[in-house]
Amino acid sequence: MKKDDCIFCKIAAGEIPSKKAYEDDEILVFQDIQPVAPVHLLMIPKAHVASLAECGPEHAPVLGRMMAMAGRLASEQGARDGFRTIVNTGRVGRQDVYHLHIHIIGGPDRLPRMIAAE
Ligand code: AMP
Ligand code: ZN
Repeated sequence: MKKDDCIFCKIAAGEIPSKKAYEDDEILVFQDIQPVAPVHLLMIPKAHVASLAECGPEHAPVLGRMMAMAGRLASEQGARDGFRTIVNTGRVGRQDVYHLHIHIIGGPDRLPRMIAAE
């Protein structure tokens, strides 16, 4: 369930502090430490799963619950006119932390287009 060397498992266990926006038995939502917009939340399942690539049907209920609460949380945090959800996955997806997380990014202004040319 908990992976010892995983930073988000430690946040879920309260061993590393975070600014929480929502918590229940299976989900934690907290502020990203390096926000890229006025609203930047991370939603995680408390049970460790490395990425979307490792998910199976057993993860569908918690993933569904996470997506279904994203709109309410975004609005509560100040993204009242839209937001973006991002799940970076694996090397190609530029995932940095290998505990599945959904970014919720928004704010009063429009975000840049989704994939910028490098
Ligand atoms: P990703 O590249 O999708 O794996 O995103 C990882 C995200 O985790 C980045 O946006 C980081 O700023 C964020 N992050 C890393 N460590 C922490 C932490 N201790 N508390 C909050 N956010 C973190
Ligand atoms: Zn973990």
